[in-house]
Amino acid sequence: MKALVKEKAAPGFALRDVPVPSIRDDEVLIRVIRAGVCGTDVHIYEWDKWASSRCKPPFVVGHEFAGEVASVGKLVTDVHEGDRVTAEGHIVDGRCMLCRTGNAHVCPHTRIIGVDRDGCFAEYIAMPASNVWHLDDATSYDVGGIHDPIGNAVHTALTADIPGAVVLITGCGPIGLFAIGVCRAAGAARVIASDVNDRRLDLARTMGAHSAVHPADLRAEVMSATGGLGADVVLEMSGVDPAVHQALALVRVGGHVQMLGIPAAPIEIDFASEVIFKGITIYGVVGRRMYDTWHQVTRLLRSGEFDPTPVITHRFPLEEAEAAIAAIKSGDAGKVIFEIA
Ligand code: NAD
Ligand code: ZN
Repeated sequence: MKALVKEKAAPGFALRDVPVPSIRDDEVLIRVIRAGVCGTDVHIYEWDKWASSRCKPPFVVGHEFAGEVASVGKLVTDVHEGDRVTAEGHIVDGRCMLCRTGNAHVCPHTRIIGVDRDGCFAEYIAMPASNVWHLDDATSYDVGGIHDPIGNAVHTALTADIPGAVVLITGCGPIGLFAIGVCRAAGAARVIASDVNDRRLDLARTMGAHSAVHPADLRAEVMSATGGLGADVVLEMSGVDPAVHQALALVRVGGHVQMLGIPAAPIEIDFASEVIFKGITIYGVVGRRMYDTWHQVTRLLRSGEFDPTPVITHRFPLEEAEAAIAAIKSGDAGKVIFEIA
């Protein structure tokens, strides 16, 4: 089969012919139809410090996908050939203290497809049946293929108290854009979004932000919307130093800051003034809650109140991986996907 392979410890991907993966008795083989490209894939492509310390080439890249089940192992009872599916890409042990107390998203033994084992930028992928998630008939493969980052947005937003809240979202990358739609669907009173990029601010308005502004205008916007109090909830979705400080500055006293963006380097925080004396709560987001988040994603899509499709701006075949990576690096794209079958 065709696959995008991280072949060696150096920048780049290679399109190769590799064997179709074999499956264990508790796994399923999925024919990949759509796959989402994300910042993590760019890190692996560029072979930065994080990627080179974590990943062990050679492996097939990619962790966001949807497809059709091609075959199932003999212990698998609830997934069948022909099923339309996506999957949670974090493979956990299911046995540790965290997994067994409903916190599998922070399982210390997590292995991620396309990072720690073969991924989905290929014609086929093998997945444990327990990670497989069925798509509604009405859900397209386009949307199925981006359940992973939609799940990041849903996890970040819906672990806070969104109904009736003034919500600030710092960073309108694909996940911030999904989060705008999720917060609107969840009944936020006002959604304010910020980004440094005008294309992304336009997409933020398309996704339903009541206002979408540059960081320089953000304080005035938030304060006028809240009578000088600050936002009830901030979703930090940029991972950028000044945005993290703005998130802490513009959340109201006693408010909640949901931290999804991953800073590239340590950030200096004045805990006394930025956190403690404001009495705020900070929540660190890892992946998607298993499987609360997945049920929420399916139900939101089913409701018709949340439409992620305007976020998809670019589509490429696997052969054009370089163009897909370049589109993400330009900073102007919404969600970039591969059309594999
Ligand atoms: P992204 O990294 O492209 O989005 C970041 C956005 O922040 C960009 O649109 C950028 O223009 C904007 N930005 C830059 N400076 C800003 C500022 N001062 N104020 C406001 N916005 C600013 O794309 P993404 O895929 O949506 O990812 C968002 C973040 O979430 C990244 O840091 C990513 O690494 C992280 N992430 C975390 C998890 C997790 O489980 N915690 C999962 C996936 C991604
Ligand atoms: Zn575990």
